[in-house]
Amino acid sequence: MSKEKKHFETEAVRTQSGTTQYSEHSVPLYLTSGFVFDDAEEMRASFAEEKQRDLYSRYSNPNVNEFVDKVCKMEGAESGFAFASGMAAVFSTFATFLNAGDHVVSCSSVFGATHGLFTKYFPKWNIECSYFNINEVETVERLIKPNTKFIYAETPTNPGVDVLDLEFLSTICKRHNLLLVIDNCFATPYLQNPIKYGADLVIHSATKLMDGQGRVLGGITVGSKALIREIYLFSRLTGPAMSPFNAWVLSKSLETLAIRVEKHCENAIKLAEYLEKHPKVKWVKYPFLKSHPKYDIAKKQMRLGGNIVAFEVEGGLEGGRNFFDNIKMCSLSANLGDSRTIVTHPASTTHAKVEPEVKASAGITDGMVRCSLGLEHIDDIIADIEQALNS
Ligand SMILES: *Cc1c(COP(=O)(O)O)cnc(C)c1O
Repeated sequence: MSKEKKHFETEAVRTQSGTTQYSEHSVPLYLTSGFVFDDAEEMRASFAEEKQRDLYSRYSNPNVNEFVDKVCKMEGAESGFAFASGMAAVFSTFATFLNAGDHVVSCSSVFGATHGLFTKYFPKWNIECSYFNINEVETVERLIKPNTKFIYAETPTNPGVDVLDLEFLSTICKRHNLLLVIDNCFATPYLQNPIKYGADLVIHSATKLMDGQGRVLGGITVGSKALIREIYLFSRLTGPAMSPFNAWVLSKSLETLAIRVEKHCENAIKLAEYLEKHPKVKWVKYPFLKSHPKYDIAKKQMRLGGNIVAFEVEGGLEGGRNFFDNIKMCSLSANLGDSRTIVTHPASTTHAKVEPEVKASAGITDGMVRCSLGLEHIDDIIADIEQALNS
């Protein structure tokens, strides 16, 4: 087999687990909890890790391995481990490396559940977290302490679609001997590869654009062989592994990731440009709009701008509620990265429990709408949003 690196789309389609005696074209579902051995020696050697093979699906499984291989190729990573959900990936990555007394520096704009982990559970393990404001990355270095282990961030951020300079964060991490951990969920590996800019570990919620059709949960962490080995050892004991069924679905989803994400992004920039001209819209944020404060950084590290557009409707909370009540086609949901366009009101849903100062520093205002562009025709998406804005 040739190890020559092929294009993204080709790897996504052609990376497959081996064929069985039936010579199937499409990879079957290996719905099995365990695997059998030929004899006592094979069993011993397998458990001693002298022989590389699947033992038990809490450790590995052919469908899960295929999903992991694809994402590693897409991210330019040596190794990875797949989880039952994005949060299982986030939590297991932290739990593997953090000890009592450690400190994490995190961007204040992170996924709500990740923020909940920092505030509700880190304190009971005596792990401390300091936050930097997305618009003041120059303050990051001042937050670093002797016990700091990680810098953690998402870019583009949720829900404000702010952009962080990965190269800058990686320079700081190298200077202070810290790990840079990036949740790359909003960008997907098609749009952005944080490892190329110096990240040590990259996390994804596969539930979002990787599946892209709102069907299954999944998560993955990729990075160097040595770091992923630690995550693997923690995970094979604690059991957050991805199910073979979800891996089978997700591996097939990845075959169409590039073509889907292209279309999501094309719809997103068209909506963003439309909203910029609408009199009832106070502001619009999208990484590939020239008006985005970090447009140059987005252009440097992203292939396209992503599928999330954030904007503020006139009239604060009242205006926001009115907009959502008048939406006819788009889905009102807290999810994102689906083939269906979704509109969300972060102030009253995903970020309702976040402290006001953190909310403000994450740029979440009362009338803010987060739109996850789907794959419907853009004219129909704009027509729905237009009638909701005008009613
Ligand atoms: C959804 C999401 C998660 C969590 O993923 P689940 O699969 O829902 O557990 C983590 N980070 C980001 C940025 C997300 O959007």
